[in-house]
Amino acid sequence: MVFNSLLKKHSIREVFLKPLLHLFFPYRCHACSIELFSNESILCIFCETGLEHTFNQAELPQYLVSESITLHSLCYYSKGHAAQPLLHALKYNHERDACFDWGLMLAKSLKNRSIEMPEYLIPVPLHPKKEYLRGYNQSEYLARGIQAVYPSAQLRLDLIKRVKNSNSQTRKNRHKRLHDVRNVFELNAHTWGTVSHIGLVDDVITTGATLKGIIELIKSKYPDIRITIFVLAVTK
Ligand SMILES: [Zn+2]
Repeated sequence: MVFNSLLKKHSIREVFLKPLLHLFFPYRCHACSIELFSNESILCIFCETGLEHTFNQAELPQYLVSESITLHSLCYYSKGHAAQPLLHALKYNHERDACFDWGLMLAKSLKNRSIEMPEYLIPVPLHPKKEYLRGYNQSEYLARGIQAVYPSAQLRLDLIKRVKNSNSQTRKNRHKRLHDVRNVFELNAHTWGTVSHIGLVDDVITTGATLKGIIELIKSKYPDIRITIFVLAVTK
């Protein structure tokens, strides 16, 4: 009985695989590399409590500020901050499970706030070629983590596609990045249906250029739609 109820509450991965793997390959904190306890997933308790959660609209880049846009971000991100190495790992170390765990952590941080969840969760898409090379879209797995906590929000991968494969944004200046987002995305107009509130999921807001491109495109078709942005970090 106890065993069955344990399995109902947690997946097989949580009950068996994680503790077993942990025994042979101890996990390390993504921020400070200290060995984690089995009940910790990606951050040690010290780094987790050190994250500066932000739900502050003022943190959005000016051109994203609008009454119909809400921001939920797990933390601030700045050079030398605890979040820096772990966000680097998220982007470049091919850690799909870690993305899912980050999504869970973000969603759990929202649980004690009375937030209205959107009808759809839409991860910012990668270009198919880039997704193929990376093996997955990190924003999709963040969204899957959020959805595990808020199952009423539908994960929709069919609404927006990336039609241009822009190069890594990190080496471009701000003006060039803002210019480059034009015509990068396309809406799949027949699959949207009637929806009044969507959630866009991305890993980090730096200039906000990518989100700006997507939001302008969505608003051009659905001017009254409400948008909630879920990200792991906003640069300070
Ligand atoms: Zn740590």
